[in-house]
Amino acid sequence: RFVTFEGGEGTGKSTQIARLADRLRAGGLDVVATREPGGSPGAECVRHVLLSGGAEAFGPLAEAILFAAARADHVDTTIRPALDRGAWVLSDRFYDSARVYQGADGAVPAATLAALEDAAVGDTRPDLTVLLDLRADIGLARAAARRGAATVDRFEREAVAVHEARRLAFLKLAGAEPERFLVVDAARDAAAVAEAVWNGLCSRLGR
Ligand code: C5P
Repeated sequence: RFVTFEGGEGTGKSTQIARLADRLRAGGLDVVATREPGGSPGAECVRHVLLSGGAEAFGPLAEAILFAAARADHVDTTIRPALDRGAWVLSDRFYDSARVYQGADGAVPAATLAALEDAAVGDTRPDLTVLLDLRADIGLARAAARRGAATVDRFEREAVAVHEARRLAFLKLAGAEPERFLVVDAARDAAAVAEAVWNGLCSRLGR
């Protein structure tokens, strides 16, 4: 089973993945928890380029191609082999983040993004996507508290309105594919969110 977690900064994706991984492993399941961009040695190299200040030299198309290159390597070397051996794969972000972050402002044509997505993932698509939904100002405050202002990455420096627009873009994706998405209110404490994720997963994936 392939489950992706999506949402803006500070929505608790990594916390929820850790909790879900623990719970599945306690049931004796093989679980691979991974993240995008990254999740394989090659993709982690690309992540470093993308999230360091130097990546601001790239235009929108080059950036979208770099994210897609990282995703292709992540799928080929980590995700697909794990799914093939019967493991559960939990990924912190996947192509919905690309649709929102690289797609929302229209700088790269939708057809180009769709072609990059198809090339990178093939038929390796999520069975379930958990969208952790949270007001952007709350999420940004959480992210800042966690990392400290000095280590905020370049995407987190953008204005609250930009992040709120991305939140709406994620909700729009969820509305277009309700059978794939599980939208969870992430404003509650981590334990309550984890319970909602677990219950949704059980009813959707029949655990
Ligand atoms: O989830 P995490 O904070 O580790 O993601 C790293 C950064 O990469 C985020 O700030 C996110 O906004 C950005 N990102 C992006 N496009 C993607 C995936 C992540 O801009 N496709």
